[in-house]
Amino acid sequence: MDYNKLFSEINNSIAKNKTKGKVASYIPELSKINPAKFGVHLTTINNKNFSFGDSNEKFSIQSISKVLSLTLAYSIEGEKLWNRVGVEPSGTPFNSLVLLEHNKGIPRNPLINSGAIVICDILVSKLKNPKQDFLKFIRELSGNYKLNYCLKMVESEKNYGFRNVALVNLMKSFNNIENDIDVVMDFYYNLCSIEMTCQELSRTFLFLTTDGTDPISNKIIFSESKSKRINAIMQLCGFYDEAGEFAFKVGLPGKSGVGGGIVAIHPNKYSIVVWSPLLNKKGNSYKGMKFLEKFTSKTQSSIF
Ligand code: GLU
Repeated sequence: MDYNKLFSEINNSIAKNKTKGKVASYIPELSKINPAKFGVHLTTINNKNFSFGDSNEKFSIQSISKVLSLTLAYSIEGEKLWNRVGVEPSGTPFNSLVLLEHNKGIPRNPLINSGAIVICDILVSKLKNPKQDFLKFIRELSGNYKLNYCLKMVESEKNYGFRNVALVNLMKSFNNIENDIDVVMDFYYNLCSIEMTCQELSRTFLFLTTDGTDPISNKIIFSESKSKRINAIMQLCGFYDEAGEFAFKVGLPGKSGVGGGIVAIHPNKYSIVVWSPLLNKKGNSYKGMKFLEKFTSKTQSSIF
């Protein structure tokens, strides 16, 4: 399949309609990005690579890193993890407090902010040096040993993280946070600040296309059953309160971030990343969603 040609054709067809949306502005550092950026990268399980546009430029992966911290926590903690966080779609925005009060401090799922903060708390309890250990984990997965946190982004997140501070305090009041709040939040903000290229990110997520074993290094990240479950969670909870729309129109498990990135995987086939910073009202990349809808339609590669 000549994916390069297809990428260009799909891009042309979307460009004609003019891309809508707004760059995330609630964190000042995020609002500085050039809205015209657009990149795509697809990695097959046989390590064939196809790309388009700004696919080699780093961008802030933001909430996409929540899947990676969940992977690490799940591989360490096992099924006990689900005592502290649920697996249901939230149907509310990523930083909503509403359901958390109702559910007595147990987040609906690990991919919304409250859930990801609980995952950070677990990693802070279990890892010797959480920030360094997590970095080591994603460096190995991506094959890029220079990956790092973006300190400017961390500062910006910290200065404007009012809702996240509210979430962690509410969960602490329900005894669902074990560690010092500042330590947990510092780790959380660092996770959000990671920058990767489309190529690095699609390579990083390849282990979820092949039942938890990285098809390039043959390293077992976690079991087949855990991999299946993470894919199920991405399918149901990976797109804020638009996960149904993504399943309906694209039909792949995936995760988006407010930096405009979307990663989606097709089990036993490929991992694909699309990056376009203009977001729709639900916080997902406007062009990224459109592009993937056209891509899975033209290649008939939805999982359904
Ligand atoms: N840095 C973001 C926050 O916690 C994560 C946003 C996202 O990509 O969903 O506010």
